Amino acid sequence: MIEATRAKGLAQLEEFLPRAADYYQKNRNYDLGPEDRRGVSGLSPYITHRLITESEVAEAVIEQHRPKDAESFLQEVCWRTYWKGWLEGRPLVYQAWRRLVKEDSRHWPQREDFRKAVEGKTGITCFDAWVEELKATGYLHNHTRMWFASIWIFTLKLPWSLGAQFFMQHLLDGDVASNTLSWRWVAGLQTKGKHYLATAKNIEKFTKGRFRPEGVLAEQATALNGPPHPPYKSPISFPFQASEQLGDKYALLLTGDDLCPEIGVTGEMKPERILSLPVDALQEADEFSQKVLTFKKEALADARHRAEAHFGCPSEQLEPGCDPAGALGEWMKAGGLNAVIYYEPFIGPWKDLVGQLSTRDVGVKFFPLRRPWDGLLHPHAGKGYFHFKKYALPQVVRARGRFGPKKVVT
Ligand SMILES: Cc1cc2nc3c(=O)[nH]c(=O)nc-3n(C[C@H](O)[C@H](O)[C@H](O)COP(=O)(O)OP(=O)(O)OC[C@H]3O[C@@H](n4cnc5c(N)ncnc54)[C@H](O)[C@@H]3O)c2cc1C
Repeated sequence: MIEATRAKGLAQLEEFLPRAADYYQKNRNYDLGPEDRRGVSGLSPYITHRLITESEVAEAVIEQHRPKDAESFLQEVCWRTYWKGWLEGRPLVYQAWRRLVKEDSRHWPQREDFRKAVEGKTGITCFDAWVEELKATGYLHNHTRMWFASIWIFTLKLPWSLGAQFFMQHLLDGDVASNTLSWRWVAGLQTKGKHYLATAKNIEKFTKGRFRPEGVLAEQATALNGPPHPPYKSPISFPFQASEQLGDKYALLLTGDDLCPEIGVTGEMKPERILSLPVDALQEADEFSQKVLTFKKEALADARHRAEAHFGCPSEQLEPGCDPAGALGEWMKAGGLNAVIYYEPFIGPWKDLVGQLSTRDVGVKFFPLRRPWDGLLHPHAGKGYFHFKKYALPQVVRARGRFGPKKVVT
């Protein structure tokens, strides 16, 4: 399994950088199998947990290549930000997916067709191989994720909600926004009238003949029906800087959505203590595979160690039990602290968990922050991607340190 550390993420970025322009553009759509991933960066598990930040990745690429040459790669990084911003403005779409998962989980998992799919025993060679690869490596190539989701929905006729959940269970880079909205896009729920149908020809071409699923895939399909999108509400704008009211008796809280506390404004702060929240306390924890759980735990441990060294103070993990607010209150009191600062998690499980810390007043003041990358770009994700890209890409290219540190900090 890949190492869940910032050092490994930075090393991977360094190794990938020479290929981020022309090579990426020409090869990124080919899935040559787990033995040859040179066409893509493989950075997603690190970016998802913010072991490395999007701005570090973009800045490093722009330092080595002309932005025009690396546009294809920068656009993909922007896709992630677009999906994030889109969901921040429409949290109901996330809640609706969770409700569907609950409903569909009542009967589908007992069905033989569902069991065969998740065990990789459908008889569709490529699909079964991808199930195995996903479980073994925690990763699938982007094109393969599209084919997989399409076959799941249109050939196997299984519910998209549980396909998205299956991905979240096994992907090391599992991200509520990119995953849910990409599954919805394949199903035809995201862009009205547009769905994605995988074809045998396309799979054969972009796997360079590793798979030839002729005659076994649905050749026609209609987009799924769903309610219209809820109206986009501009995401809550959290400050980029700490308020003066923070005082000096505060803890820095780490969540799995942002594990780079030494980078950005928090890097300049002087917390008395570092606090992290346990992965096991996430509502979805029992849905994650052992590999995903281990990756998340190791990533958090890595962030705590780095934070201890950077801030020169101890770190602890809160055991929230059945009264997270009470547990936090007691921990703060014992340490003589009265405020917590943290990067506000995104719509998804970490946000839900952090929300439970403030369900009642235990005398703790909360100071959520946003990174400028998110705060400046998310409000432009209310419409389609091309509208977003038109705004975001020039911002990213011109940013040169505005979104974060100019140089990658090791
Ligand atoms: C059905 C489906 C489910 C997906 N689920 C996830 C998920 O849970 N988590 C996740 O991070 N991505 C998801 N993606 C997007 C994409 O497949 C992965 O980000 C990409 O394959 C990661 O590999 P990489 O780091 O080598 O990507 P690269 O091609 O090297 O791209 C660099 C970075 O850009 C971002 N990125 C690239 N492509 C996309 C994309 N299409 N959408 C959003 N961001 C992108 C990622 O952060 C990635 O690390 C999903 C796509 C589909 C079709």
